[in-house]
Amino acid sequence: MSSATLSPKNSKNKPPHEQDQCHKAHETKAPSKHFDFNHITDAQFQAAADHMKLEPDIQMLLRTPYRELIVQIPVRMDDGHLELFHGYRVQHNAVRGPYKGGLRFHPEVDLNEVRSLAALMTWKTALVDIPFGGAKGGVTCDPTKMSRTELQKLTRGLTQKIDMCLGVYRDIAAPDVNTNPQVMAWIMDEYGKKHGYTPAIVTGKPVNLGGSLGREAATGRGTTIITREACKAFKIELKNAKVAIQGFGNVGSWTARLLHEMGAKIVAVSDVYGGIHNDRGLDIPKLCEHMKSTGTVGGFPGAKEVSNAELLTLNVDVLIPAALGGAIDHKNADRVSARIVIEAANSPLTPQADEKLRSRGITVVPDILVNAGGVTVSYFEWVQNLQQMRWEESHVNAELEKRMMSAWNNAYRVAVEQKLPMRVAAYVVALERVAEATRQRV
Ligand code: NAD
Repeated sequence: MSSATLSPKNSKNKPPHEQDQCHKAHETKAPSKHFDFNHITDAQFQAAADHMKLEPDIQMLLRTPYRELIVQIPVRMDDGHLELFHGYRVQHNAVRGPYKGGLRFHPEVDLNEVRSLAALMTWKTALVDIPFGGAKGGVTCDPTKMSRTELQKLTRGLTQKIDMCLGVYRDIAAPDVNTNPQVMAWIMDEYGKKHGYTPAIVTGKPVNLGGSLGREAATGRGTTIITREACKAFKIELKNAKVAIQGFGNVGSWTARLLHEMGAKIVAVSDVYGGIHNDRGLDIPKLCEHMKSTGTVGGFPGAKEVSNAELLTLNVDVLIPAALGGAIDHKNADRVSARIVIEAANSPLTPQADEKLRSRGITVVPDILVNAGGVTVSYFEWVQNLQQMRWEESHVNAELEKRMMSAWNNAYRVAVEQKLPMRVAAYVVALERVAEATRQRV
């Protein structure tokens, strides 16, 4: 990586205001994490690969990312100083179709995290059987401290720097944590300057620019479908079931809304600032309005404050981590009191936590199944863009239901027939599809 200081050596020849800016040049770096993302996805991969007795050469190909790109993105910030950001795009596997995966803007983004999330995308697209591979990208930055202009410059800079590995039939980006339809619109616009009008280069765009109806709610809708099926399979009455959700962003809030509509009692939710709890159930439509006007779930009338740590240990039927990775680890897993854990976030459990919950009889439904609704509707968006057609929202939702049900049925059947935890079963279905495509190609 390049050095932190971008100031030209002969800055004394510059006008005074530019000299000041050079002195303030700064580099945004990710802090070290308390867990290793790659360790999580590697352990999950290995458990399934061992069970399937997957050939060592196929294992080697499936484990190794195809391409990893690290780029520097200098951005002139609003106060005039130059900030150096680092961006990443990891293309994990494309034997079943073009690389596909989100872009994350977060202070903790680093190559390791992006690499691990790219592998998860490969297994996810295979599990829901859509013709995509897996990729992921991101920038180490804190978007909460950046203006709209700075975010736009950063997004356009990232697009220019990773342009050589993007393409409608090569690699298609999407939103993830702290990126949204507006960010996708900037990417499409920047990419279009060089390549012409190309809406299919990103999914999760504003509907006005070729985004799919139903995409915004898709991950939450998929999570809701899997929660409903898991409750059925593990004998939990969804109506009046107590549910706690960590994270109230795109995924958490849509999951809360849709489960609330199905009669579940959402008793606790949280965001990065903390959580709220009411054992009689929260009024979710009112909470969404409160969130819109205040930007946080905190201070919602009729609910008591609860910390993020406490929320994870509440006595509920269903716990849905829908924020960031590593939320449940070896330190707090013993205090989780839910009957089932639905992984709406990517990698919210460490392997040690997974093991502890399993030994206590708590069922965990894995991320690659639970949150696959997002990439599934992204696939529908891509198809609509290529065909220059728009589907009705009811059609999008019906197709999503079919794909999610098929993925659930396949994973659940393998879990029952081969007496496997749901995670290993879901990986077995996904790995077999990617392995078979690899055998046919090499
Ligand atoms: P988002 O940025 O819209 O929301 C994230 C939420 O988590 C916010 O409410 C934020 O306040 C909260 N949060 C952040 N740090 C937290 C912390 N330390 N404790 C508690 N809450 C915290 O992101 P999103 O799109 O909803 O994504 C959430 C998770 O779902 C991520 O793991 C993401 O990779 C995964 N996911 C998202 C999609 C999608 O379509 N958006 C698809 C698949 C998977």
